[in-house]
Amino acid sequence: MSLQAITFDLDDTLWDNRGVMARTESGHYAWLDEALAAWLARRGETHLGRFAERFPLAAYQAGRRELAERHPLRRGDFSWLRERALVALLEEFGLPRSGAWLWAAATMARFHELRLAVSPHPEVEPLLTELGGRYRLGAITNGNLAVHRLALYRHFRVAIAAGEIQAPKPDARPFLAALAWLATPPSRALHVGDSWQEDVLPALRLGMRAAWIAADTPHAGELPAGVHRLRHVRELPALIDRLERKG
Ligand SMILES: [Mg+2]
Repeated sequence: MSLQAITFDLDDTLWDNRGVMARTESGHYAWLDEALAAWLARRGETHLGRFAERFPLAAYQAGRRELAERHPLRRGDFSWLRERALVALLEEFGLPRSGAWLWAAATMARFHELRLAVSPHPEVEPLLTELGGRYRLGAITNGNLAVHRLALYRHFRVAIAAGEIQAPKPDARPFLAALAWLATPPSRALHVGDSWQEDVLPALRLGMRAAWIAADTPHAGELPAGVHRLRHVRELPALIDRLERKG
C-alpha cells in the first residue's frame, strides 16, 4: 500500500544534537549566574553571594531528577522540570517567590534560544521540500526544542512534543495523535528516527513502517519486517522510492 504520511523524530535524526545540548545546558545556567550577579550588584544586594557557587550545575540537575521522580507524569516535560527546579533553587538562594519565577522564566528564554541553535543536515531542507509535495509530514519529538521557531517547522502539518503531553515516546499516544492530525492509518505511514526504543519499536507496534537512522549502532541479527536501516537521513528518498515500487 502506498505511503501517505511520514513522521520524523528531530534530535539526532534531522541534525546532530550532541554539541547543542552540552552548550545549552551549561550556557543558560552560566547566563543566569552572571545576569543575576550583575542585577544584585546594581541593587547593592551582594550578601547573597554568587548563585552558581552556592548551587553548582550538579545541584540543578539533581533538582530536576528529584522533581521527575516526584511527578512521574512530567518526567518527559523537560521545560516544566527545568523551570520549577530553577524556581526552587532561586528561592533557596534568597529571592522572593515572584523574583524566583521571573528569573526562572528569563533563564528558560535563554535556554530556548540556545536549544534552537541546531544545524539541520544540509540535505534536510531540500528533502522536506520534496517530500512535503508528495506526503503529509509530521514531527514527533521527546525534546523540548521550540520547534515552531525553526525554519523547517513550515514543512510539518503537525509537530508533537511528546513529553509535554505527558506521553514521551515510546508511548504510542504521540504517534496516534500525529496520525490523527495527518488523517492517515498507521499502515500508510513511515516513521523516521534514530532511537530503536523510542522510534522504531513504537512505530512497528502500531503497524507503521520505520526508517531507523543508525550510522554505527550495532544490531545483532536481522531487522524485523517493516524496518529499514539507513546510515543517514539523506538516504531516505532512495528508501521511499524502493518502498513505493514494491507497493
Ligand atoms: Mg532522536
